[in-house]
Amino acid sequence: MRYEGPIYRPPSEAGSLLIQATVGCPHNKCSFCMIYKKGPPYRVRPVAEICADIDDAHARYGNRVRTLFFPAGNTIAMPTADLAAICRHARERFPALERITVYGSSAAIAKKGATDLATLRSAGLSRIHVGLESGDDTVLSRIKKGTTAAEQILAGQLVKAAGIELSEYVILGIGGAALSQAHAVNTAKALAAIAPDVVRLRTLVPKINTLLLHQIRKGRFQLLSPHEILREARWLLTHLDSPTRLTSDHYSNYINLAGQLPEDRARLLAQIEDALTWDESRFRPIRIGTQ
Ligand code: SF4
Repeated sequence: MRYEGPIYRPPSEAGSLLIQATVGCPHNKCSFCMIYKKGPPYRVRPVAEICADIDDAHARYGNRVRTLFFPAGNTIAMPTADLAAICRHARERFPALERITVYGSSAAIAKKGATDLATLRSAGLSRIHVGLESGDDTVLSRIKKGTTAAEQILAGQLVKAAGIELSEYVILGIGGAALSQAHAVNTAKALAAIAPDVVRLRTLVPKINTLLLHQIRKGRFQLLSPHEILREARWLLTHLDSPTRLTSDHYSNYINLAGQLPEDRARLLAQIEDALTWDESRFRPIRIGTQ
């Protein structure tokens, strides 16, 4: 198996076989993201190479492989016929495979449309991880996400309609102090319109080599304190009116909010209220540009 450039995968894919399908990120402009900035430019690996890596993995691991993730940053953007071909090849090689997963941006998913997504579902693609980050248009524009709330809603609905499991990632604090409430409320509205299977919370940790870190250092972006992050989470949960599972499966979060909505909303809000009584020194350290 061969890998090129940064290889990232969601924490929930920790046990998955990683077979690289694409290199880098075709967008590569988000203000908070450093992952692929210094790596090789985006490209799609040839299907024959990817299939050879699948064969190699089969020779090593056989039927122990149960879940498969195709890095890198936006594999849904690769040509549908190519992605379908490698999904089919993986399903043939690993008949016990329970899940095939990729990262996918809303822009790329919307461009694919319903027919291509149905093709991918038939070929065996079963879950897409989408970085929603925010459902607020001003925030999306400021962080250079390259999409809008309307497009994110459309993309999420297309994925769900195709019968593909959908995880949407939200970054608490990504609107800064100025847009905290708008970010929370409009993100909740977008998620309610999408009704993803899972909402995965992250909390903003400004990373080295990012535009966002530069903006913080110039005083153009005000980072939220732990209590402000919790208030933002409270707005989000109060307005999130769709059946979805909420997880906080990431080191960046100040508290572990996890449960099924709407059933667990009251418990989660009570958890936030309790954490708001803690001194802020009890939370994880605030990391700015240390990673
Ligand atoms: S957050 Fe995702 S879409 Fe944005 S630059 Fe990073 S990998 Fe690309």
